[in-house]
Amino acid sequence: MLYKKIATIVLAITALQVSAGDFGHDVHWSYSGDTGPEHWSHLSEKYATCDSGKQQSPINITNSNKADLPPLQFNYNSFPLAIINNGHTIDILTDAAAGSLVIGTDSYKILDFHSHSPSEGAIDGKHADMVMHLVHSLSNKIAVVAVYFNKGEANPLLATLWSVMPKEVGDVQHHKDIQIDIKQLLPEDSNYYTYDGSFTTPPCTEDVKWVVLKQHMTISTEQLEQYNTLYSNNFRPLQPLNGRKVFSSN
Ligand SMILES: [Zn+2]
Repeated sequence: MLYKKIATIVLAITALQVSAGDFGHDVHWSYSGDTGPEHWSHLSEKYATCDSGKQQSPINITNSNKADLPPLQFNYNSFPLAIINNGHTIDILTDAAAGSLVIGTDSYKILDFHSHSPSEGAIDGKHADMVMHLVHSLSNKIAVVAVYFNKGEANPLLATLWSVMPKEVGDVQHHKDIQIDIKQLLPEDSNYYTYDGSFTTPPCTEDVKWVVLKQHMTISTEQLEQYNTLYSNNFRPLQPLNGRKVFSSN
């Protein structure tokens, strides 16, 4: 259902003439070799934006412009765990009651969250050990919150998630007995950078609002290793800014 939802959004944004059915059978892509990031745009016409786009993600944040940005309100509710190993990462799917992120007058529903290791994106040229991407939508507009994780204390929610992490690529696994509290992934300080970017995976669709939290979280060495036994180096390289501005909330 989530794929259908995302597919609908992608369709709306890109106006590609593909059906939701096609979306589930997209051309194979990966993070290395012949199907790696430098080849994405050649793998399918649908992936052309990965090369031709001028507002691509991720980026290296070096300079930012202080702006009067609205505070972030994370209005998330607990929901029963649905988790999938989709061949690119471990993805956690939310349900209709999982809540939203409010930015000013815009309320974005949370759709899913997943990780990349090392982090996609960098700050002052530095990658973190992992990044969690929280994906939201408001009609056909996507907003992604990036939370960086560096080695340190274990994270309690990651402990829960990794304990049931599907080792094989496959279908969504439902754990109705496990309640997920997304706030355990969030730092106390919600100051942020924001810029206009894209999906970091094919079809690299643009018009994505990126929100990069400044305060970082921690992951234990063991937790990072657990994730890296399944996925490591699953990140897209840094993309050119092409004159875009990054804004900072403080
Ligand atoms: Zn991501």
